Parts: sequence; structure tokens; C-alpha cells
Amino acid sequence: MIRQERIHDIAIVGAGPAGLALALAMKAAAGARIDVAVVDRASGEVAPDPRGWAIAEGPRRVLDGLGAWAPVAAQSGQVTEMVISDSPLRDAVRPPILNLPALAGGADAGEDAVAWIVPAGALHAALMDLARESDIDFHFGAGVTGLERTGAHAALAMENGATIAARLVVAADGARSRLRKMAGIRTVGWDYDQFGIVTTVSHEFPHEGRAFQHFLPGGPFALLPLPGNESSVVWTEPADKACRLLELGELEFLAELALRAGPELGEFELAGPRGGYPLNLMMARQFAAQRLALIGDAAHRVHPLAGQGLNLGLKDVAALAEVIIDSMRLGIDPGAVTQLQRYERWRRFDVFQMAVATDALNRIFAPDIAPLRMLRDLGMGIVDRSGLLKKWMLREASGTTGTLPKLVQGQPL
Ligand SMILES: Cc1cc2nc3c(=O)[nH]c(=O)nc-3n(C[C@H](O)[C@H](O)[C@H](O)COP(=O)(O)OP(=O)(O)OC[C@H]3O[C@@H](n4cnc5c(N)ncnc54)[C@H](O)[C@@H]3O)c2cc1C
Repeated sequence: MIRQERIHDIAIVGAGPAGLALALAMKAAAGARIDVAVVDRASGEVAPDPRGWAIAEGPRRVLDGLGAWAPVAAQSGQVTEMVISDSPLRDAVRPPILNLPALAGGADAGEDAVAWIVPAGALHAALMDLARESDIDFHFGAGVTGLERTGAHAALAMENGATIAARLVVAADGARSRLRKMAGIRTVGWDYDQFGIVTTVSHEFPHEGRAFQHFLPGGPFALLPLPGNESSVVWTEPADKACRLLELGELEFLAELALRAGPELGEFELAGPRGGYPLNLMMARQFAAQRLALIGDAAHRVHPLAGQGLNLGLKDVAALAEVIIDSMRLGIDPGAVTQLQRYERWRRFDVFQMAVATDALNRIFAPDIAPLRMLRDLGMGIVDRSGLLKKWMLREASGTTGTLPKLVQGQPL
């Protein structure tokens, strides 16, 4: 039995981008009227992250509403066009099968953009700085090892011996969520046996705001525009091949990268460290249970080919924040399962759709078989010639379709 005197309104486990964004959303809406704790096993120092996160318009509005967009805007690249190709690795050129230019008037950030490419470490640090300036009760270096849920509250036990209680516990503790396991929530999904290789490169020719997605037999290879002549790389390969590529010397690594990128951007140089991430699809069977809600990677993990993982997480944040604040304004317990089921209904279908779409794209484009390539290129050609289909794809990718939480609409709670 975990004993505790102080009972927080919300205890968020995980100070990753999803957990911090939720804490900030609670504080922005209710200030001192809401008692928020954030617990993380890490030290609270933001670790370097070699990824560039593609952030769509809806989730960008969430960050803007929390004050986290302004500190990263100047370091972020604006995607004004997506260029998609499908060719065997041996081909010298990567002719586009689909071009998706930004919708005119489709964004409200001053200029039109399909998405923004934000350095992951900078965004995480901006959220951390803002959170540390507010009156959130932080517990760093505190890995959660126990969860108990009674009628009135939930209690957490930490490996440092401390305990904490709250009316609602939010699991934002990432894809291997211990909270999810302790609550007995099962998942569906599978490993891709693929790695995402990430780094930053500088290149000879300007990208002009173009993001390139080359579907190759080993997996999708993306170059995503950053400010100046730099791009963020997300390069999928089978796990064993990826490990060999990551161990190559710089020149050999760049030669392999250039082989996949084609001639469009000229010569490449490394402009950042390399990293490798195992890829899997995972969706929790429940996003909510008694006194517990799951957000971000604790609830779902999707293939990074469409750059949607954190975008989904920020939409979870917006939906859960709205449900919690609405409940508290009406004097209803924010940990009541009936309230949390509203959050679950709001998010599950969107996540399911994205999981299915990214999984299908990864599978459809993998086989290096000429007749299959012809068929999929024919399909893409039809999309390329249809203005309506293109608009639909861009709207879906912007994260601004469906019943939108207020923060995704750019409104305060
Ligand atoms: C190669 C790659 C490229 C990607 N590109 C994009 C992209 O372009 N766009 C996009 O939107 N998304 C992208 N993603 C997805 C994105 O990185 C994730 O969705 C996001 O990092 C998840 O954030 P989170 O806060 O949910 O979890 P995490 O960042 O995993 O944070 C979890 C936190 O919980 C803490 N924690 C874990 N266990 C415990 C415990 N027991 N007790 C206390 N604390 C604990 C950890 O220390 C950590 O701080 C990409 C992912 C990959 C792999």
C-alpha cells in the first residue's frame, strides 16, 4: 500500500515532448488552480537528439499556444513542396512520381507550408525551459516502479523510494511504457525489423523548401529541409544493413547516402551526428483506464515515413487537456473513467488511421518488382493529376481534419 499525504490533480510520468506539452497546456489553462507533477527517470537535462521532427500545421498551433513555437521557429525549415519518387537503388536519377506543393492559404503561420522540420533537441529543450519556468512539481531521477489505483486517487512508487499521488496519472513514458504494462493494458502491433537512420547533411544546391521522399527497396529515404543548405535525413533500412551503415567511416557513409539521394542536391557533407532507431508499429488497446490516460508514444508508435509520431502525440495532448479542463470547470473528477473515455473516443480512430496508412505505404513501396512498381506509380500518377486528391492528402497530413480540439484550432482552452 503506497501512502501519500499530498494529492496532485495530475501526475504526468515522462518529461518527453508529449508529457511536457501536456503539463504546459494544463498550466496555461488553469494556472495555480491546477496542481501538476511531472516525474521522469532521467536527470532533466535534455539529451542531444539527431532527429529533425516534421511538425504539421495543427500540432504546430498546439506548440504555438504553449509558447514553444517562437523559440524554435528560426531553427526550423519550411516544407513548401513534397517530392515523391519510386525507383530501384541502382538508378542514377530519382524522377518524381508525385509532387505535393503547399496549399495556398493553407497555413496561418505567415506563409504557406506543408510542414516544418524542427530540430528535435531544440524543441524538447524549449518545452523543458518553459515547463521549468512554471510552478510544476518536478521529480527528476525518479523512475516509476509501482502504480496503485484506489477509488479516490492513483499512487506512484519511484525507485528512489519516494511516492506521489494524484487524481489522474498520465502515462507519457514512451513506447516501452512501464505504466501501460503495470495497468495491464495490452498492445497490438509488430516490429518492422527496420532501423531509421537519422542525421543532418549540408548540400551543394539549395533545397528550395522541397522535402524529398524516395521510396527505395530497402525502405523510404527522406531529405527534409532545414534553414540554409541543410536537410535532415530519415533513412529506413533493414536492421542488419542499418547497423553496418552506421558503422561506416564518414566518406563511405556519405557515398551510400548520395547513392540514395540522387543528384538533385549535389554533393553532401555531414552536418550533425548519426543515430539509429529500431522501428515498430504499436497501438495500445486502451488509451484510458481508471485514473490513468496514455498519451504520445506510450499509446502508439507509427513508422516515421510520414513524420507523424509526435504529431499524433501533440493531438493527444490537445484532446486530453481539453477533457481534463472541461471536467474541472464542471467540478467533475478529472480521473473519472467516464471523462477519460471521451478522450479515448476522440483519439483512437485518428491514431488507427495513421497506423494503417503508414504501415501500408511501407509495405506497398518495398517490393523491388517491376510490374508492381508500374502499378503503384500509375496510382501515384493519378493522384498527381488530381487537384482534389492532392488537396485531400495535404489536408489530412496537416492534422487539421476531423473534430479538432481547441488547441489544434489555435484557440486557448
Ligand atoms: C527515426 C524517427 C524519426 C521520427 N520523426 C518524426 C517526425 O518527423 N515527426 C513526428 O511527429 N514524429 C517523429 N518521430 C516520432 C517521435 O520521435 C516520437 O513520437 C516522440 O519522441 C515521442 O515523444 P513522447 O514524449 O511520447 O515519448 P519519449 O520522448 O519517449 O519520452 C518518454 C519519457 O518518459 C521517461 N520515462 C520512461 N520510463 C519511465 C519510468 N518508468 N519512470 C519515469 N520516467 C520514465 C523517459 O525518460 C522519457 O523522458 C520519429 C521517430 C523516429 C524513431
